[in-house]
Amino acid sequence: MQPTGAMLIGHAAVRGQAGSQRAFNPATNAEIAEPQFGFGTRDDVDRAVGLATRAFDSYRSLPLERRAAFLEAIADEIMALGDALIERAHGESGLPLARLTGERGRTVGQLRLFAQVVRDGHFLRATIDTAQPERQPLPRADLRLAKVPLGPVAVFGASNFPLAFSVAGGDTASALAAGAPVVVKAHSAHLGTSELVGRAVQKAAQSQGMPEGVFSLLIGAGREIGEALVAHPGIKALGFTGSRQGGLALLRIANNRHEPIPVYAEMSSINPVFLLPQALAVRAEALAQGFADSLTMGAGQFCTNPGLVLAVDGPDLQRFVAAAGKALGVKAAQTMLTPGIYAAYREGRAQVEAVEGVERVACGADAAGQPNAAQAALYVTDAQYLLRNPALQAEMFGPASVVVKARDIDEMRQVADLLEGQLTATLLLDEGDHEAARQLLPVLERKCGRILANGFPTGVEVCHAMVHGGPFPATSNAMYTSVGASAIDRFLRPVCYQDIPDALLPAALQSANPLGTWRLTNGVMAQA
Ligand code: NAP
Repeated sequence: MQPTGAMLIGHAAVRGQAGSQRAFNPATNAEIAEPQFGFGTRDDVDRAVGLATRAFDSYRSLPLERRAAFLEAIADEIMALGDALIERAHGESGLPLARLTGERGRTVGQLRLFAQVVRDGHFLRATIDTAQPERQPLPRADLRLAKVPLGPVAVFGASNFPLAFSVAGGDTASALAAGAPVVVKAHSAHLGTSELVGRAVQKAAQSQGMPEGVFSLLIGAGREIGEALVAHPGIKALGFTGSRQGGLALLRIANNRHEPIPVYAEMSSINPVFLLPQALAVRAEALAQGFADSLTMGAGQFCTNPGLVLAVDGPDLQRFVAAAGKALGVKAAQTMLTPGIYAAYREGRAQVEAVEGVERVACGADAAGQPNAAQAALYVTDAQYLLRNPALQAEMFGPASVVVKARDIDEMRQVADLLEGQLTATLLLDEGDHEAARQLLPVLERKCGRILANGFPTGVEVCHAMVHGGPFPATSNAMYTSVGASAIDRFLRPVCYQDIPDALLPAALQSANPLGTWRLTNGVMAQA
């Protein structure tokens, strides 16, 4: 299958009438000839959201088994697209074929995980406090809580994961699993990939007999479609991955609506890495190699890229910097996702280079005429400069990082305290570093969504325990994760049913427990 340039609204393929655009190949710096993608209008947004609104009650009322089968059918349809999907994504993103094949595996794995989550029913958080008619001085009513979906969700595909964080990525999979219809705004950096995946979702919706409107895909020029989608009264929540500026613009629209809605925007994080003294003394060179590999993975275009390294100054840190510089020096330049992202990377580096007290200590191989290709870079500064100039912690989205030399652990903790909210923090430590780690951990718990030891933050496992979130500006809502089974919670809210007759209750709350799910009954968790 090849893309045709259409939007997908409910069961229909619709040619956008508000202008058009070809996809772009950042590796050749040229447009991809076919097809032309037609831009939608506000009427198309109305149509997609109208269908989603009409589909909502029937979709959320389907048996959970049907919802789970739908998610699995999407995964199967994506796999059935075969190499055409991987090749198209490669042409539009410059990402290597092997990386995209892995990302497709993650995408379908994510859909299948959410199918399991739906079947299990635990996400409904069924909670029952049975009536106590004899209680003194007042009787207690029968109270039962379960989660219901918020309503249609708008999803903005991310540029840096054209499959796993886009049309059928984590936001879409978790919203559909919650029982919420989804309207996706395709990212302009991978229009053909978006259409192909969108067609897989549309086909699965039809073959599984889902109500029309459970999924739509819109394409838009500039900001018009995105803004209209977030402002539409039928949309009840938003999932977004992208820039801080874009996320904040959408958050403002969502907050200024007559009915403000929750925005789950993942935006900016520099993922500090703390090199603790004993680990550094024992294995500075090995740590440097691991760091250089993590920094340059995917041209550094990971939200969990290690953009800041902190360590106590001394000969061991010098060994680390020298080894990291050597490892980065032989890293080839890599094509970035778009000319805009490449320009932003260069601009970010120029801004860091202009800061007093910052020294560039290493550079990757030259791009040698390869368009939009990022060269790795490593900078060193002193903690005092960072403490005086917090602007140094701005994200350089790409393969560049700053090593910060601290006087002692206490100064490292001061820097950690100054940092903005982060998706991750990494501790590279040995047993002798436990006391230093103990001093840092309370600060890191305040700042981060995930704290890891003796690894690197790139690579986010999709599982039940994952947290891919964190305080602002890592995300706009630190209470949730956008990766892993708990991502479903973003699109659910609790309803309490008081003295509602058993036959009228949702299945999860009926006394006979027809779903066989785990429930908290009178404070005791049981599958009864
Ligand atoms: P972006 O510019 O924020 O765009 C993301 C999506 O939001 C796109 O669909 C875009 O529309 C839309 N959008 C952006 N601003 C909008 C607004 N004011 N109103 C309505 N819609 C809006 O992000 P990007 O293109 O992926 O990358 C740009 C920069 O974002 C990068 O250089 C990097 O700094 C950062 N980034 C960070 C992460 C991370 O995880 N931390 C991930 C990706 C990117 P169009 O498609 O029409 O442009």
